[in-house]
Amino acid sequence: MRPLFFVLLSLPLLAQEKMKPEMTEFWEPVPEIVDPGNSSTPPSDAIILFDGSDLSQWTSVSNGEAAHWTINPDGSMTVNKKGGIETKEEFGSIQLHIEWKTPQKIEGKGQGRGNSGVFFQKVYEVQVLDSYNNITYSNGQAASIYKQSLPLVNASRPPGEWQTYDIIFNEPEYDEKGNRLKKGTLTVFHNGVLVQNNTEIQGTTEYRGHPNLRNIKTPKKLLLQEHSNPVSFRNIWLRKL
Ligand code: MG
Repeated sequence: MRPLFFVLLSLPLLAQEKMKPEMTEFWEPVPEIVDPGNSSTPPSDAIILFDGSDLSQWTSVSNGEAAHWTINPDGSMTVNKKGGIETKEEFGSIQLHIEWKTPQKIEGKGQGRGNSGVFFQKVYEVQVLDSYNNITYSNGQAASIYKQSLPLVNASRPPGEWQTYDIIFNEPEYDEKGNRLKKGTLTVFHNGVLVQNNTEIQGTTEYRGHPNLRNIKTPKKLLLQEHSNPVSFRNIWLRKL
């Protein structure tokens, strides 16, 4: 059924004054009720990917076997040399919440300092990096869409402190031949600060060369990168959009 609101939009503006307020109210549908939780708990309709108890939602990128990152007593997990991890499930467009922390002890510099990454559908990276007083190329610092879009500001906390990403990912659309019909977008809040404002994704986030524009038929899994630095994560959940 066409909402009353849109029908009314087509009425001549001259009729506005004669309209009753009730004529622009619509009562159906009613939004679903969601318990929003509090600042440390997810909303009631979230899919929990990691709550500190186990890695049952994740597998190792290298061999598809059980994920082997280190689970810590404080409810976090830490990257180790066994490689990246990815979700078992695939997702389209999502709202993602994830918390991360780079090592308190500063080692390395530039891209070698607290590097990890949140990859949407395995190929679109929102960079995780210790970007607190750490110079690197701007479109590769924390909260950049790697080598495509620098963050609007640098909202980084110091190394060793927990940081949050709240991300809205709208997936790109392709036709049957793999030609892109519509670009995907990323909106990113870093520690509550808007750093990517509905940024269009140009293509896959490549280390070398330009973004790949075509659909490479990758599984639509969320991937966390291993980049030789012991970055930690906690409280990972998403909502399908
Ligand atoms: Mg990275």
